[in-house]
Amino acid sequence: MAVLEHLTSQQAIDLENKYGAHNYHPLPVVLSKGEGVYVWDVEGKKYYDFLSAYSAVNQGHCHPKIVDAMVNQAKTLTLTSRAFYNDMLGRYEKFATEYFGFDKLLPMNTGAEAVETALKICRKWAYEVKGIAENEAEIIVCENNFHGRTTTIISFSNDPVARENFGPFTNGFIKVEYDNLKALEVALENNKNVAGFMAEPIQGEAGVYVPSEGYLAAAKALCEKYNVLFIADEVQTGIARTGKLLAVQHENVQPDVLILGKALSGGAYPVSAVLANDNIMNVIKPGNHGSTFGGNPVAAAVAIAALEVVKEEKLDENAERLGKIFREELTKFSEENELVTLVRGKGLLNAVVINDTEDSDTAWNICMKLRDNGLLAKPTHGNIIRFAPPLVMNEEQLRDCIDIIKKTITEFTK
Ligand SMILES: *Cc1c(COP(=O)(O)O)cnc(C)c1O
Repeated sequence: MAVLEHLTSQQAIDLENKYGAHNYHPLPVVLSKGEGVYVWDVEGKKYYDFLSAYSAVNQGHCHPKIVDAMVNQAKTLTLTSRAFYNDMLGRYEKFATEYFGFDKLLPMNTGAEAVETALKICRKWAYEVKGIAENEAEIIVCENNFHGRTTTIISFSNDPVARENFGPFTNGFIKVEYDNLKALEVALENNKNVAGFMAEPIQGEAGVYVPSEGYLAAAKALCEKYNVLFIADEVQTGIARTGKLLAVQHENVQPDVLILGKALSGGAYPVSAVLANDNIMNVIKPGNHGSTFGGNPVAAAVAIAALEVVKEEKLDENAERLGKIFREELTKFSEENELVTLVRGKGLLNAVVINDTEDSDTAWNICMKLRDNGLLAKPTHGNIIRFAPPLVMNEEQLRDCIDIIKKTITEFTK
């Protein structure tokens, strides 16, 4: 078989199973094309995408403006490394820092790399600005966090599957309960060595846990009181997903350190970044940190286009409006359907909790049926299904999707 010969879905799945490491458990659907809110499988069946590549494709699949920016830059200059300057990076850094309201940006590629970068900046700031004794800095994180897959990041995960047999782990992290201000304050007041507090404004992977109103603002105030950095991991919640450009803006919080990834490129290319003001970012000096691909000209061109699309198409307002409709309709549905316990979320980052035990396969089976009915979604943890379509969806499409979801779950209840 020639490498690029046409494949059936089953052939594509068999190839991945035989030749690829088994580090994922994908829903059995093989996609070969995407446009806006739709994706197509290799047999030509069309689906609504309700995962958006974990909120990377907020701007919709293959957005023409983003693809054009990528193709044009790819034909001109793709990579110089940071050994030399390039004529795109500075433009992107000026654009993005003004866009998000920070002095400086440090460019990386993946979300996990940006999280690592933020942790390194935070520690260095602790020693060189705050004055914590060498190797004593600690960073507070939240239980049930998801910040990526590196060895350091899984050191403070409490997902046993993500950690098992990957030790020894990195020290210097304190875990507190999410959405618990008292626990945060206790951790801060009993420890002079705390450098930062890192949190997701909504815990996405954990199952779209939205903290109580006021939690983020109060946590930021506590960080100010104890002179520790508030680090917001907005890799999943950022770039209009929750109905505002950043989820922290629901509470008018400006983090000290902002971590972005995923939709920063509209899903076209791996682009991540850490943003902070000079008093923090200036601790990083030549040689302290870097990445061969970080800040490459294609990434810069793609990110500028992706951020422009968010503003031009008012994706934040659209996510806010459609998210309300989604939760309203499915909450009504949950009141008459025994399988749906709860609907929660913000903007177009939502989850439906299925009335079954965490280890049941009901949520998975519902996702299989949704697939058959033309809508792709995936369980997060056991009995929770995340619904996060591209933010370019319109109301008619959303209502069509709500009908598919209700019909599918109703069939399932019988
Ligand atoms: C996806 C995600 C990451 C990791 O991003 P990768 O690009 O997969 O490394 C980090 N933090 C949050 C909140 C995420 O959702």
